[in-house]
Amino acid sequence: MRLVLLGPPGAGKGTLAALIKKEFGVNHLSTGDLLRAEMKNETPIGQEMKQYVESGELVPDEVVTRMIAEKLKTIKLEDGVLFDGYPRTGKQAADLDRILNDLNAPLDSAVFMEIGLPVIIQRLTGRRICRQCGAVYHVENMPPEKEGVCDVCGGELYQRPDDNEETIRKRMDVYMSSTEPVIAFYEEQGKLIRVNAEQDAGAVAADLQEKLKADA
Ligand code: AMP
Repeated sequence: MRLVLLGPPGAGKGTLAALIKKEFGVNHLSTGDLLRAEMKNETPIGQEMKQYVESGELVPDEVVTRMIAEKLKTIKLEDGVLFDGYPRTGKQAADLDRILNDLNAPLDSAVFMEIGLPVIIQRLTGRRICRQCGAVYHVENMPPEKEGVCDVCGGELYQRPDDNEETIRKRMDVYMSSTEPVIAFYEEQGKLIRVNAEQDAGAVAADLQEKLKADA
């Protein structure tokens, strides 16, 4: 299984990826997570990219493509892979196709998670994440047992600095203008699968499995 997960911030790409990973043991590659790790470790790349990430701008194509290419060398591709948050531009989509074709491992499908802005804002402004293990909560929809503390590992929960309404609107605008060509790219290849991402995560996963079966 080699899938790209497409959808605006807040569509639930990370949550869906975690569900699929748990069930099928596939690798999960998230450029957002890779960038946040670089920033946390204060690497040169992390320091340079911080301004883009925190303001909701896209980082340059070469930077994320290099990260993905490097990461692909370290995983077992035969276990499958989910790309989350990548590609986000037409150039990235073409580069990913080339990289995967060189590895004889083309994509099976691109999953487009459709969702409207009001639901995105509600989800992201309430999102809280564990600093230690990355588990994701929502202050109303999925609160932890103890406020500010992770149920899984006891770590501290935090709010991403780009999860505020102004930056969310900006990220959505950036998403709409840069990712449209990505959707067209996979639609032309006959690889695009659309799912309604306003449902809860379990329903989205079930919907996707049905559609993948119908495609096979
Ligand atoms: P995410 O966690 O996917 O919402 O990504 C957080 C931020 O990381 C984005 O707002 C961008 O600044 C940056 N980013 C993540 N993936 C990409 C990508 N494929 N291309 C460019 N920038 C990216």
